[in-house]
This record gives sequence, C-alpha cells and structure tokens, in this order.
Amino acid sequence: MTLLDYFDASLAERPGAYAVNDVTYGALHAATLRVAARLRERGLARGERIALYCENRLAFVYAFLAALRLGAIVVPVNVLYRAAELEHVLGDADARLVMASAATREHVEALGGCDIVDAASIEACASDGDVSAGVPTPAPGVDDAALIVYTSGTTGRSKGAVITHGNLGAIAMQVVVAWRWTARDTLYAALPLFHIHGLGAGLSGSLLAGGRFIFDERFDAKHTIESLRRDDVTMFFGVPTMYVRLLEALDGPPPALRLCVSGSAALASDVFDAFAQRFGMEILERYGATEFGYALGNRYGGPRVGGSVGVPMPGMRVRVADAATWAALGPAEVGELLVEGPSVCRGYWNNPGATADAFVTDAEGTRWFKSGDLAVYDAEHDVYRIVGRLKELIITGGFNVYPLEVENELNRLPGVRASAVVGLPDAVRGELPVAFVEVEGTFDAEALRVALAERLASFKIPKTIHVIEALPRNALGKVEKHRLRALLEVTQPR
Ligand code: AMP
Repeated sequence: MTLLDYFDASLAERPGAYAVNDVTYGALHAATLRVAARLRERGLARGERIALYCENRLAFVYAFLAALRLGAIVVPVNVLYRAAELEHVLGDADARLVMASAATREHVEALGGCDIVDAASIEACASDGDVSAGVPTPAPGVDDAALIVYTSGTTGRSKGAVITHGNLGAIAMQVVVAWRWTARDTLYAALPLFHIHGLGAGLSGSLLAGGRFIFDERFDAKHTIESLRRDDVTMFFGVPTMYVRLLEALDGPPPALRLCVSGSAALASDVFDAFAQRFGMEILERYGATEFGYALGNRYGGPRVGGSVGVPMPGMRVRVADAATWAALGPAEVGELLVEGPSVCRGYWNNPGATADAFVTDAEGTRWFKSGDLAVYDAEHDVYRIVGRLKELIITGGFNVYPLEVENELNRLPGVRASAVVGLPDAVRGELPVAFVEVEGTFDAEALRVALAERLASFKIPKTIHVIEALPRNALGKVEKHRLRALLEVTQPR
C-alpha cells in the first residue's frame, strides 16, 4: 500500500479529526487538491521533481501530499543548505520547481535558472479555491518514485536515495505497528520535515494512524517541554542532542507522555538513564537511515536496553555479515549490518554505480543494503548494538557530515594546500567536525570559516581549524585520520 492509500483510509474514517496542527483530515485533503491544481498550473507533471526547500510549515505538508497525488517526485532539501549543496541537489534531481520561503528564496535565486514557487502562496491557495480540478489517474503505484532524499556521499557529492510510494507506506506502517500508534495519539515533532525521520516516520506514520501531528518551525527545548505538556500530546520523536537539551531545560514536573523515540545517532547510555530518572520514561532508541527507513528499534513493551537499538522493525530483516562472504556472523561477532525489507530504497537517482556499490546479493539470492555501520548481536539481552561505522561519516546533532565534501570545499580556498576533517566527540551534539589544514602563506582560520559558510550548511563548518605542517599519511599517501583523532585527544580536554 502507498501512503496515499493509508491517508485516504484515515480521511474516510475521521474527516473532522485534526491531522496536522489545527488542520483536519478533511481540510488537509481539500488543501492538497487545491495545491495540486496550482502546482500543475506551474508545470509540475507526473515523474517531474519538485524541491521543497523551506522550514517546517504547512506549505511543506501541502506541497508534499499534492506532489504525491500528482505522481511528481518530492526532493526535500535541508533548509541549512547553501550554494554548493543546493547547486548539486537541484541540478542532479533536475528539479522542475523549487518551493522556497522568504528565508531561503535568495539562495535559490543566487543560483539562477530555477523556477520558484513561494511557500506563502501555497498556504494562501490551500485555503481558497476549487477542489474539483482533480488529480491525474491512475494514482501512483507502489513502485513509482515518491521522494528523492539526498544523503551525503562518500564521494563528497550527495546521492539521491529514490524512495517509492511503497517504501513510504512501509516506513509508516512499521512505526505504527511497532509503537502501537493509534488515532488517539498526538505526536509533537520538532524534527525537520526535510529528513526521513520527520517526514517518513513522523508525519507519514501519524497520517496512517489517523492521529494528530503537531510541529514547530524549529526545536527549542523550553518551548518543546511546554508543548509536550499539552493534554493531547502523547508522543515525542527526537535526536539525541534534543534529549540532552530537554534534560537541561526541564523545570518542574515532566510532561506525561506515552512514548519518546530517539534516533539518527547513538543515544548515550547516561542520557538514557538520566531521562528515565527525570522524565520517568525509558527512551525507545531506533536505528535507521534515509535509504532503508527504520531497520531496528527497542521493543515497545520492553525491556528497552540503553545503548542498544533493539530488534528488527516489523517486516525488516538484518544481518551482521562477514565482510568476505556476506554470511551471517555469530553472536558477539562484529560485522557490517545488512538490511532487507519493504522500506529499503530502490537505489540512487541517476547513479547506477553508487546503487551497485550499496547493495550485495548473498548466496541465497537475497539483495541486502549495506548500511556502512558496524553492529553486533548481543545474545544475552537479545538486542543489536551499533558499535561503529565503516563509512567516514560524522553525525553532529543528528545531521550528517561527510568529511570529503568539507575537505573538497576547504581545498578550493586560497592558501589551503590539503585538508582533513574528523569528528571530535561532544557531549551535546555527539560529534563536532574539526579540520586540519596544510597551508601556504598566512593563515586566517576565521576567514576560512566565513568562506566555507557561503557554500556549505552551518553544521558542516569545522568548529576549529588546526594548522598542521604535514598531514599524517600512509605509504600510499592516504591521510591517517585515526592519528589526527589521537592528536585531538591529546590537545582537547574533555
Ligand atoms: P540518515 O540517513 O541521515 O538517517 O543517517 C543514517 C545513519 O545514521 C546510519 O547509517 C547510522 O550511521 C546513523 N544512525 C542512525 N540511527 C542510529 C542509532 N540509533 N545509533 C547509531 N547510529 C545511528
């Protein structure tokens, strides 16, 4: 089933119930049809791409559902993306339209050549106008592309994971079944809608369940706690950094919730413990990725084992695999985690090479997605644990930074001969990107950071830039990042 099938079922059952913020299912559907007609007038047709590049707001939800109805493909774009990232994503996806807001419009305009639709005008047309224009038939099928979500790539250029209508329906169904989500639930989400966590699991899960989804433009810990105290709110989804902030901000009794879910990066055991103590609730940690939705999650009914990511989500299979044969390893043996199931994406947009590299077919003929994460099965607790990464990824506050992308940008700057970016452990954000540069002539770290900020999202800008005479390299000339990390451990008190 597709997400739209599930939405239609919720609409038929509860047209007058709140779906998103103060918009009911009936009103949301009418808005979607109006926006679909507007987008069609603007030239968006089946199979074409529309980029959604704005903060969390109703226009995002309307345009998302309208594009799905039209059979167009949604490309969510991180609102923090700047010139280098935007140029690549909009060009690679060959976006027909870009929905931008007052805050993001200038960045799209600076690129030139993009057809922009205003988020405010989408909201204006959503509440007024004809709903009879209709959407094309047949409705998109389970194998049609619904989304292209860009994930930072190991090559330094992000790759677009193609998520089908069936994948999106599967992600929503998995979380609804696993977390016993019902129409009585209200999810408060401070997560960005441009990420699969907010859009796929949060919004889509809620629409399937027939519940209410409440969002804010951005996360603010004090405000979030107030929102969670609302009578109707039963659930909260966040990234580990948000839980650290909630712990700092809690003043008075904790809100009464049914479920708190954390994911996108490892949740530290001490945060899990402190939250259990202060909020009286064990956070349910899950593990997922843009390419495969959610693969693992702690058991809803418990025990929830801190520092673990639990068991396979409904319908999903995982394997801790031997790197040579891809056969399953035994308990306590560390290997790459492979993932298989109905929410695994089809591959990367226009990138057969990256698609081929991302999957492996085992001796039994099963096609598995290679997560790039190292995992182990803990037989004593009957849970999986993520213990490391094969891919060179830094996760900071839930956002991904691929070092090579930042290094490429650093290397373009005058005076930089070579650079290397590594992750520094950080109690709040999990990791922070830090750069080492070999320079020529005079060096001004602040000027480098300003120049980078024009091209890259703020979370990718190295927190510190260290000058190094010569980057440590192996015999083949490859930079030995573990030695740089060791240097940081010596120089940075924790
Ligand atoms: P994204 O595609 O942005 O969702 O990032 C996916 C990556 O985030 C995964 O491949 C993991 O490296 C990491 N990740 C997600 N959830 C967890 C978790 N619970 N524990 C550790 N790493 C995680």
